[in-house]
Amino acid sequence: SPTVVLVIGMAGSGKTTFLHALSQHLSGEGRQRVYTINLDPAAVDVPYTANIDIRDTVKYKEVMKHYHLGPNGAILTSLNLFSTKFDQVLSLLETRAPNLDYVVIDTPGQIEAFNWSASGSIITETLALAFPTIVAYVVDTPRSNRPVTFMSNMLYACSVLYKIRLPFVLCFNKIDVESHSFALDWMNNPEKYRDDLHHDITYLASLSRSMSLVLEEFYRNLRAVGVSAATGAGMQAFFEALAEAKNEYNTDFVEWIRRRR
Ligand code: GDP
Ligand code: MG
Repeated sequence: SPTVVLVIGMAGSGKTTFLHALSQHLSGEGRQRVYTINLDPAAVDVPYTANIDIRDTVKYKEVMKHYHLGPNGAILTSLNLFSTKFDQVLSLLETRAPNLDYVVIDTPGQIEAFNWSASGSIITETLALAFPTIVAYVVDTPRSNRPVTFMSNMLYACSVLYKIRLPFVLCFNKIDVESHSFALDWMNNPEKYRDDLHHDITYLASLSRSMSLVLEEFYRNLRAVGVSAATGAGMQAFFEALAEAKNEYNTDFVEWIRRRR
């Protein structure tokens, strides 16, 4: 049965580009059978060929007009409308499953549309109960290179983990622009992170220092890799981390589901 990779991250972090890189890597040199799903109703350019595309079912612009909504409301409503038909997507996937290695899923640009919506939860849970499902959390590395922006991104990653409860791979994207080594340093050595904030006397810096104590535990249990969706760098490391995450799904997550019943 296929492994499902849910690609989640802040707007502009590179989710869509990463998904394209993933599917190219997998179907090219990896010789894997990949199925792609686009869940972003407002996507304009989709560089990969989507096997299932929310835009074929729900017309975002018409939803906006028809329900008199702004862009965010229309994205949410489109996702809600689509989630009511997600059982059809699932049966399609189940039919295809014997002939698939991976299902990769792109989510709406704005992270909260997926992470904090009922339809996002329904879609995630439906998938996770049927197939090993892993979250790839994409981070814009160059935009997280300051201690306070790094902290806000890690807090968000942490909240996604707590909400979704699925195994997780943190993908520091855009390493063609800037290496993610500073991020690994800060995660492996939180002392160093607090030192780097030392000259900063603002309230935000002081809050970030305290938060970093809290996040030490989160960092310890995290798989983090550097990737470039643009150049395809780091794919090997990503798939190694994904394999570990899949093991975690098969042990911890399956156990958690079993106990919840
Ligand atoms: P999404 O909103 O998360 O789906 O982000 P997109 O995939 O649309 O990417 C946002 C912007 O970042 C686009 O201009 C991409 O070309 C750019 N981008 C994405 N990944 C990379 C990368 O690995 N390196 C560089 N340099 N740019 C990237
Ligand atoms: Mg996108």
